[in-house]
Amino acid sequence: MSLRIQDLETNTPSAIFDPAISPAINAILQRALSGEELDSEDACALFATQGAEAQAVLDCADAVRKKRVGDVGTFVVTRNINFTNVCYMGCRFCNFAKEKGDKEAEFLTVEQVADRAEEAWQRGATEVCIQGGLHPDIDADYYRELIVAVKKRVPDIHIHAFSPFEIWYGCKKARLEPEVFLAELKQLGLGSMPGTAAEILDTEIRKKLTKNKLTTEEWVRIIKAAHSVGVPTTSTIMYGHVDQPIHWANHLKLLRDIQRETGGFTEFVPLGFIHYETPLYLDNPDQVRPGPTQDEHFKMHAIARLMLQGYIDNIQASWVKMGPEVAAKMLRSGANDLGGTLMNESISRAAGATHGQEVFPEDMVANIQAAGLNAVQRNTRYEVVESFSQPQAPRFIAIQGVA
Ligand code: SF4
Repeated sequence: MSLRIQDLETNTPSAIFDPAISPAINAILQRALSGEELDSEDACALFATQGAEAQAVLDCADAVRKKRVGDVGTFVVTRNINFTNVCYMGCRFCNFAKEKGDKEAEFLTVEQVADRAEEAWQRGATEVCIQGGLHPDIDADYYRELIVAVKKRVPDIHIHAFSPFEIWYGCKKARLEPEVFLAELKQLGLGSMPGTAAEILDTEIRKKLTKNKLTTEEWVRIIKAAHSVGVPTTSTIMYGHVDQPIHWANHLKLLRDIQRETGGFTEFVPLGFIHYETPLYLDNPDQVRPGPTQDEHFKMHAIARLMLQGYIDNIQASWVKMGPEVAAKMLRSGANDLGGTLMNESISRAAGATHGQEVFPEDMVANIQAAGLNAVQRNTRYEVVESFSQPQAPRFIAIQGVA
């Protein structure tokens, strides 16, 4: 038997707990239900729960989701554009990166990126998400020109682009402070930034993943710089490799601290490690975990909801990493958003994920409704584009054959 929640509308923490749930876990969940902040120790205790206690954590997160954002599940119609897969940073969890001479190496011109953005706009996208490897021929001008080309072609599309690693790279090449570079990109049309490249914000773990090339401090510095010049970002975690629950708990706490200071995060996106074909896993299969278990996926979304409530109230479940059906189940365990339709996505597929091409908007709607929530198409800033309160026939036209 799991946790039952009453009187949520009055914000009264009146949970009735199963006697199988320990007083310690009961106390943490009661505090979460009343909106109190949990600390890293609390989160670690919740990550360690099993059975009825673990189910109580998920139920509690579902109740807090309802309290914070209502019975609504959201998605955004967007296209991912990975403009190059050439990168020499050597992150060990990555199998997306290629060398310049590889036959699979790709490097789109800014006009080709603009072509894809235009095609996305014609298909109903409100956003393009543009990221790429750190190609040796790219400099700050490429990033600038890319924004200009897309805006010139599709003035009203929202440009969600460039990870903190890419901003770090552009700044390094142009010898600019991140605030200066980001303010310039914003002025050219950058709408927001993905908070990717966070991986795990812990120095020792990052050394094993990325040789600490973009340090925790640099990631935080660039994120805060973006927020300071009015460029909102998402926030992420990549978990299920050489990390432990203490790293997840500290990571969530750090994101909450940043949000308390800047208010610039729009959402939190847990990204499970996809181990296939990554050097990190292949070189050390005995020491590296093959991604999170399903149980850990559920707990990550739920505990993020409890830790971040009141600070980051949009918790996204990535169908690219978990598959659309599992992602939809996260909507009743703390998450409230299924992310983007993507149209095409190559990073996770390069690492062996079997999901990651496209989910059509009507399937997003159906998956959200199957979770018992009202489906809403949102824009990047979580403003309503269209509501789908009742199940209905598909309203989107799918154009096949987009590469
Ligand atoms: S994760 Fe990004 S920065 Fe690291 S090697 Fe892959 S493409 Fe390059």
